[in-house]
Amino acid sequence: MRHTRTYNELITIDDYYERLEYLMLKGRVSEATFGGHRYLNQILYSSSEWQKVRREVIVRDNGCDLAHKDHPIFGAVYIHHLEPITLEDIQERKPIVFDLNNLVCVSFDTHQCIHYGTEPEREWKPRTENDTIPWR
Ligand SMILES: [Zn+2]
Repeated sequence: MRHTRTYNELITIDDYYERLEYLMLKGRVSEATFGGHRYLNQILYSSSEWQKVRREVIVRDNGCDLAHKDHPIFGAVYIHHLEPITLEDIQERKPIVFDLNNLVCVSFDTHQCIHYGTEPEREWKPRTENDTIPWR
């Protein structure tokens, strides 16, 4: 079994793509896809406990993709669990769900890449600073 991914270890990696590689789940079922149990996600993600943790993560990471200072997120900010959580974790409000060391800010594209394993170098292009601001 591979060792546990942690935020504290993630941020010791300087390169954005190496951070991405470190986090890649390559299609493992995870919080993004609970099939018929999506309502449990909705209960979690609308809870005040989650909203508080979410704010802490965004402030800590300065709203940056994979907490990388050269990759600010311009669209919606997603909070990713480094080690995937299970339905049981959510139902029992286990610490792994709210542990800051298991959470990081990501953009939508980065989140898709982590979960579904699009190869970043070949098929997936990172957002560039002005690509959503055409008048610059
Ligand atoms: Zn995720």
